[in-house]
Amino acid sequence: MHLKKRVLVTGGAGFLGSHLCERLLAQGCDVICLDNYFTGSKQNVAHLLDDPHFELMRHDVTFPLYVEVDEIYNLACPASPIHYQHDPVATTKTSVHGAINMLGLAKRLRAKIMQASTSEVYGDPSVHPQPESYWGNVNPIGFRSCYDEGKRCAETLFFDYRRQHNLRIKVARIFNTYGPRMHPNDGRVVSNFIIQALRGEPLTVYGQGQQTRSFCYVDDLVEAFLRLMDTPDDFTGPVNTGNPGEFTILELAKLVIEYTGSKSVIDYRPLPQDDPKQRRPDITLAKAKLGWEPKVALPEGLKKTIEYFDAFLRQA
Ligand code: NAD
Ligand code: UDP
Ligand code: UDP
Repeated sequence: MHLKKRVLVTGGAGFLGSHLCERLLAQGCDVICLDNYFTGSKQNVAHLLDDPHFELMRHDVTFPLYVEVDEIYNLACPASPIHYQHDPVATTKTSVHGAINMLGLAKRLRAKIMQASTSEVYGDPSVHPQPESYWGNVNPIGFRSCYDEGKRCAETLFFDYRRQHNLRIKVARIFNTYGPRMHPNDGRVVSNFIIQALRGEPLTVYGQGQQTRSFCYVDDLVEAFLRLMDTPDDFTGPVNTGNPGEFTILELAKLVIEYTGSKSVIDYRPLPQDDPKQRRPDITLAKAKLGWEPKVALPEGLKKTIEYFDAFLRQA
């Protein structure tokens, strides 16, 4: 007889997915980690391979999948602009066909399913900070649309599967998250700055560095996923998950220089087009419904991420 909860994590060999697999195993679940290794890697889950409760599966979510599980976390999708714009059609397919297949799977199994959505569904927001009730301001035909609209369509599918088939769904709108196993080359600000500082290269601050972002440490985010999955069936979200602490990019650069002890200087570069001036989650709903708020402050999370990249660069 099978008593353990069996959980499927799509995109499980990626940054967030690998941490989620780790936590689920620690909680005593059987975990199926599914990935096509587009941006993820076996290396991210190498330390889990000997665990008899862990199973790694190469598969693309745009194709049907027949497995038997109790819960599904649907994280498969490239997340950074460099990666999702590499093959924009594949990105939309991953979000849309991937959601259809995983929802079809959940429907057949009557399994609970969570979607990793994104703050990008708010587009270039005219409301700040963004509550879940804000419908967003998204360009449907731009370079970012494959990601933003793909994720929006996935949310639509989740809610229609609920209305039509009474599925148990959960939707998390994730804001900027950082930590060990972030991609070294995806151009995100935290990984860029840390790698530049560790190599003694100038830190590339775009514009004057006065734009703000809020950074959530990965362990906090995974905790929010687990709590969201455990909410009563009448709670679906969407729910914002992120850290409301707001920092300017220049402040971040200075912290990274301080914690790496680097002699790097700051190199001001032109601000990219459409770069949002501010981004900060309103997590009132997550506090109320998940009893959750981030615990890891930026300095502590940065130090752990720096340790990871330091080791990563030494072995590379
Ligand atoms: P990631 O790129 O590390 O992980 C995504 C994983 O999905 C990778 O392992 C990749 O190989 C896999 N994948 C991509 N296409 C696939 C396909 N067609 N079939 C199977 N696997 C596929 O990125 P991440 O930061 O871990 O993001 C995980 C999820 O969270 C994504 O859905 C992303 O959109 C969402 N998200 C992340 C952030 C963040 O700050 N990291 C913010 C908002 C939303
Ligand atoms: N699907 C899957 N695994 C399953 C059940 C369904 O991958 O265990 C896929 C199936 O290929 C289908 C999609 O999920 O294309 C949607 O399934 P649904 O039952 O909603 O639609 P239908 O099969 O009626 O098109
Ligand atoms: N940024 C920067 N230098 C870099 C990379 C990014 O100043 O080397 C800035 C970027 O212009 C943006 C912020 O940092 O204002 C966050 O960028 P990222 O791409 O990490 O995430 P997003 O813009 O999606 O929040």
